[in-house]
Amino acid sequence: MSDTFKALVLTQEDGKTVSTIKQLSNDDLPEGDVLLAVEYSSLNYKDGLAITGKGKIVRQWPLVPGIDLAGSVLESSSADYKPGDRVVLTGWSVGEKYWGGYSQRQRVQSKWLVPLPDGLDCKQAMAIGTAGFTAMLCVMTLEDAGVTPDKGTVLVTGASGGVGSVAVAILAKLGYTVAAVSAKADADDFLRSLGASEILTREEMSEKPRALEGQRWAGAVDVVGTTTLARVLAEMNYGGCVAACGLAGGADLPTTVMPFILRNVSLRGVDSVMCPVERRKLAWRRLVTDLPAKALGEIGHVASLEQLPDLAEKITTGGVRGRVIVDLNA
Ligand code: NDP
Repeated sequence: MSDTFKALVLTQEDGKTVSTIKQLSNDDLPEGDVLLAVEYSSLNYKDGLAITGKGKIVRQWPLVPGIDLAGSVLESSSADYKPGDRVVLTGWSVGEKYWGGYSQRQRVQSKWLVPLPDGLDCKQAMAIGTAGFTAMLCVMTLEDAGVTPDKGTVLVTGASGGVGSVAVAILAKLGYTVAAVSAKADADDFLRSLGASEILTREEMSEKPRALEGQRWAGAVDVVGTTTLARVLAEMNYGGCVAACGLAGGADLPTTVMPFILRNVSLRGVDSVMCPVERRKLAWRRLVTDLPAKALGEIGHVASLEQLPDLAEKITTGGVRGRVIVDLNA
């Protein structure tokens, strides 16, 4: 094994975020009880904000970003993992406060890891990544709220993005009728191939709603926030539930209490970062059975570390379709 390895490192110079590909050694890595050979990582919206410096994501300089990683254990002083074990890591502030996945090797805390479930390889796990994992958590949240396929159509906003595209594919596989909101004129075929049966434009769904609109949706997965989420709430069926996980359009929520008090609508938040371990394991197992491998193939496309600065710019302006898988050995 070579002494050095490649990593993307973020530094701050004159208040600007600068990304550089560097050669590091094990001695440069942070403390932790497991040393990993990272095979794949991925690009999420949050990674885009970190690399471009557009969002206050980075809480330690210098930082190796990358909120996701999948790979195999090289060394471990944890009783839970041994060399050769395949693992996946998402969240826990990795890639924000702690060094993350954009490195061929990383040292991490074993309590952050989930064993890679049978039926998924490292590349597939990173086609899923935080975005896909969050999509699964959103679907589980709708299930917990009693939204079953017979109740009616489920709406997914920001549907061509990471969370949205995986949510569409999972919901369709589970037998839900899925409507998808997208601004991308060319996303129609992509979303229909994932199982969406109705496509709505972003303009239509981001128009300021009245306190209550006609009832259209039994459930919804929202990644956009702001007026879009307000409109989704105003259009929910009696007793429907919205799983809200994102702010791609904005962090505000200009709504009224009417959907809640007159239609018994519930709004449930979904967080993937601090999600408890048992729910993580359950979500990863569900992703093996509930996300078709074919859909995963269509959603994921591979990039190298070198391509990340350009792709980071693109994802922060809503320009990425599906999921970007980062191949650390490309
Ligand atoms: P992506 O950039 O891959 O997808 C977001 C999609 O939202 C875009 O593709 C676009 O879809 C749509 N969009 C972008 N900008 C706007 C806008 N201004 N108004 C309306 N729609 C817009 O990001 P991810 O899927 O990775 O993440 C989506 C959101 O979810 C982000 O806000 C992210 O921070 C959040 N998130 C939260 C997590 C949690 O734990 N709570 C975990 C993961 C993500 P289209 O072009 O099809 O309209």
